[in-house]
Amino acid sequence: MKRIYFDNAATTPIDPAVIEVMREAMQKNYGNPSSIHAEGRIARAAIEDARKRVARLLGASIGEIFFTSCGTESNNMVLKGAVRDLGVERIITSRIEHHAVLHTVEKLAGVTIDYVELEPDGGANLTHLEALLRNDDRKTLVSLMHANNEVGALNDLEAIGNICEEHGALFHSDTVQTIGYYPIDLSKLKVHFISGSAHKFYGPKGVGFVYINGDHILHPFIDGGAQERNMRGGTENIYGILGLAKALELVSENREANRTKITELRDYLRSQLLENFEDLVFNGDPDRGHYKLLSVAFPPSPRTEMLLLNLDIAGVSVSGGSACSSGADAGSHVIEGLNGDPDRKTIRFSFSHYNTREEVDFVVEQLRALLPVKEGVEN
Ligand code: PLP
Repeated sequence: MKRIYFDNAATTPIDPAVIEVMREAMQKNYGNPSSIHAEGRIARAAIEDARKRVARLLGASIGEIFFTSCGTESNNMVLKGAVRDLGVERIITSRIEHHAVLHTVEKLAGVTIDYVELEPDGGANLTHLEALLRNDDRKTLVSLMHANNEVGALNDLEAIGNICEEHGALFHSDTVQTIGYYPIDLSKLKVHFISGSAHKFYGPKGVGFVYINGDHILHPFIDGGAQERNMRGGTENIYGILGLAKALELVSENREANRTKITELRDYLRSQLLENFEDLVFNGDPDRGHYKLLSVAFPPSPRTEMLLLNLDIAGVSVSGGSACSSGADAGSHVIEGLNGDPDRKTIRFSFSHYNTREEVDFVVEQLRALLPVKEGVEN
């Protein structure tokens, strides 16, 4: 049965060229990067080469990129490390961050957590951020995501970095949804930490990275070995790391062409939905948010109750919010944080450059079979 995958904000398929790099490394590059013999040295050199390529693509120094197991680990490493090693006493974040940030800061004992107000589209209210930073001289870390994974709201890293610098605050951004999709030049931005995850940009699962600005040294998050330049004990996931670097190169090279294609698909779906269905609400602001994502709140009705499941049965994979709430529809802290109507049914469509216009047509056809169609539109 034909299946349509419109859940690329949850994870992406792996680019075949990435699989090839990983397959070759699995066959030939099996040495332990910590061994001093030839096999070990070859493996070590491959990892350092990957680090250099990732650093170059992001405008960082080679010593500022550390490979991790995923975006969640990277976020944990920064937030916990900043409190433990840099004397951070206060964290400013938002209510619509990924749980990898929210649940981590909630666990930090003795740290004050402040939540910045949000604009209607989900972006951080920068006037409020500035007010929170003014009149408080405690050492502060601001953690605000670049793009929200459920509604696509984008934050302006440059503007936030400038505000943080003005008030002497550290700045971390969870850039898991934007790495590869938007150019990020760390040599220009005033951001001290970012987090990335390969499986969001057509790389493998189980590997991510963290950027730690060279002026703000954190101690290891995982002890037990000198790997990752003394920052993360444990034998490296060499295949994953090589796959991540290749994936980042490919998405960076093809960024503009892919962006045009994905934006067209997203806009086509939006116009088709508006043509066929009544009373739709788009969460966030599709014109200003991440181009790969369209979050649609359908009006409450018994037919929208099981929409996610019925779409799955019809061969369409989408999400109700983030990946963790798809299937088990637990309600979304992001929609709640944006004061969305809890009775409406949110479906997140998220695209890749592998998707096609024909797939959008198929999805709209399935939706037309499942939902009441606008009056006057032929059924
Ligand atoms: N941060 C954001 C914004 C995400 O969308 C995700 C994944 O859904 C994560 C962090 C977690 O990344 P990972 O799956 O690599 O742990």
